[in-house]
Amino acid sequence: MAKDKSYIYGPVPSRRLGFSLGLDLVPYKTCSFDCIYCQLGKTTNKTTQRKEYVSKDAVLSQLDEVLGTDQTIDYITFSGSGEPTLNSSVGEMLKEIKKMTQIKIAVLTNGSLLSDPGLRNELLAADLVVPSLDAASPETFKRVNRPHSSIEFDKIVAGLLKFREEFKGNIWLEVMLTKGINDNTKEIGLFKSIVSKINPDKIQLNTVVRPPTEKYCLPLGESELARIKNSFGKRCEIIPEFRARAKRTYTRDVQEQVLELLKRRPCTLSDISTSLGMHPNEVIKLLSLLQKDNKIRYVEYGDKGYYKPWEA
Ligand code: SF4
Repeated sequence: MAKDKSYIYGPVPSRRLGFSLGLDLVPYKTCSFDCIYCQLGKTTNKTTQRKEYVSKDAVLSQLDEVLGTDQTIDYITFSGSGEPTLNSSVGEMLKEIKKMTQIKIAVLTNGSLLSDPGLRNELLAADLVVPSLDAASPETFKRVNRPHSSIEFDKIVAGLLKFREEFKGNIWLEVMLTKGINDNTKEIGLFKSIVSKINPDKIQLNTVVRPPTEKYCLPLGESELARIKNSFGKRCEIIPEFRARAKRTYTRDVQEQVLELLKRRPCTLSDISTSLGMHPNEVIKLLSLLQKDNKIRYVEYGDKGYYKPWEA
């Protein structure tokens, strides 16, 4: 009998959240944006329609099973194969999970729907909300995030400001910086002005560390990141590495399986995920570790990116 689709993945080692148990609340790849740096690939269903893409009952019943095991979980994280707040049951799931466990709940969001008072109200039950803001002007917003045609930059910022007023939990604002696109002095100046109004608990700078959708997306160097971090002040940090504990999470078996697969033929992220029955977000983290250990490399052929062993 076919195994039910799993809406839960991990716990995966997260650079920010420790051991994060992911809840995948939308099908691959359903999002209101099509970011140039997205590590999951191009958005195939660009939408702003909220609906129960993934059944609340199925997610909660699978979560109940995982919570019955003795794995270390620092956060239950709403994220996955696109924008999780597109799932119309987010609020109900948050309330139900709060009854099931004391583990903190984080919601990762691109912030595009925070102009909706109903969604803001649903998210009040979370412990931590991590919205991203990758632009400080409408032009850069369109260039970096390639949003659904109905989404306006000013409304996102207004939604973030309102949410800060209403939400009593922590807000960590993520800013993804891409070389030559949103890192110039003028844009950083505008960022600082918007961020000071939003007043998040943390500002987390990120850059392109995993293969992006568009190959022209390049990372900032350490010194450039450090300079921008200093200009944002004390609450700003560069998203930290999470390496030592991460290595222990993936058994040698899983690493070997990936290496064996890649020795046979170069594979895309999606190939590896399908072959090994692992969620793309889990595979991405494992591949990052193998790349850092110089066991595999990333190469592009045509418009696709492949992973292969170094010696191949
Ligand atoms: S918002 Fe997130 S999931 Fe959607 S395209 Fe951007 S990076 Fe990818």
